[in-house]
Amino acid sequence: MIIDGAYGEGGGQILRTCLALSLVTGRPFEIRNIRAGRPKPGLRKQHLAAVRAAAAVGRARVRGDSLGSAVLEFLPGASFAGDYEFDVGSAGSCTLVLQTILPALVLADRSSRLVLRGGTHNPGAPPFHFLEKVFLPLLHRMGPLVQTELRQWGFYPAGGGCIQVEITPVRRISPLNLTDRGDLRHGRAHAVVAGLPRHIAEREGRTFASSVNRAFDYVVEELPAAMGPGNALMAEVVSGNITELFSAFGRRGAPAERVAGELAEAVNAYLASGAAVGPYLADQLLIPLALAGGGRYRTQPPTRHTRTNIEIVRRFLEIEISLQPGEDQCWEVAVGPSPNPWDKITT
Ligand code: ATP
Repeated sequence: MIIDGAYGEGGGQILRTCLALSLVTGRPFEIRNIRAGRPKPGLRKQHLAAVRAAAAVGRARVRGDSLGSAVLEFLPGASFAGDYEFDVGSAGSCTLVLQTILPALVLADRSSRLVLRGGTHNPGAPPFHFLEKVFLPLLHRMGPLVQTELRQWGFYPAGGGCIQVEITPVRRISPLNLTDRGDLRHGRAHAVVAGLPRHIAEREGRTFASSVNRAFDYVVEELPAAMGPGNALMAEVVSGNITELFSAFGRRGAPAERVAGELAEAVNAYLASGAAVGPYLADQLLIPLALAGGGRYRTQPPTRHTRTNIEIVRRFLEIEISLQPGEDQCWEVAVGPSPNPWDKITT
């Protein structure tokens, strides 16, 4: 199969989805124009680490796996559970490396243990806490048990983060329905600084709590300076049927109040929408639901990541995925049912 990496959103997610589904289905692929939609196209360290991790897990033959490469051929063998260590080798996100190999490992014949090194709290990637509090608990409802531990925080540009992951697989993943988020039970923000003044996190917590449209607590955490410089602000929204987590990151030239304002805007949009699933989770749930052969969720207006991922998942699994506008500024994503998705799954 040939995939155009310039399609739609044109970023690294197209590559990761191809790798993940190639491992699960055993289907080889060639991707061209990798990350053509980005200012520095081709494979960067984080993407190369994902390729190498997928190749190790799937005993794959690979061509084009070098920095800057715009073309990659990937021919998977069998997928194997086991103990693995992968290092991005920069502050690139190690949670995105996990995103790539997790589907194969949750469907493997035995448990796996991973140690992943790189960034753990990066802009533009799921922060560790998003995996721990949002994505993995939902995956657990679908069967697989994935336990994680944050051994060391990793911020851009220093990196040096480390997470440990233990995966207990299942033979089949069950469908998931997330159409109603339930009543809001609790809101808590977590402002973290490393190697930066504590008042940054305090101002972020205070500003966020006064800008968000519901009552939120906040906690401030100061990490050892050697892990920095780094600043992450996260907000957990706990509702009856789902926990969501939104994040914003401090950066040069952005005062704490602006970072807090960005986070409050994202949380307020979610709260106002009535959606169960936020915009990032929406693109990440597609693979598990497609592998389950069914499920549905109500989400906020779809991002280009979600629309693009739908097309790539459809190419590999030939499953029905519909995306329809609904009430309360929500959209409904419905996956399957397909005649028999397991015909296409080899692990
Ligand atoms: P690029 O090609 O831009 O370098 P990339 O490989 O780093 O891209 P993208 O293709 O942009 O990554 O995909 C980013 C992934 O990270 C998506 O699955 C998206 O949902 C997820 N993500 C981004 N920001 C967040 C966030 N704040 N919380 C949770 N998930 C996030």
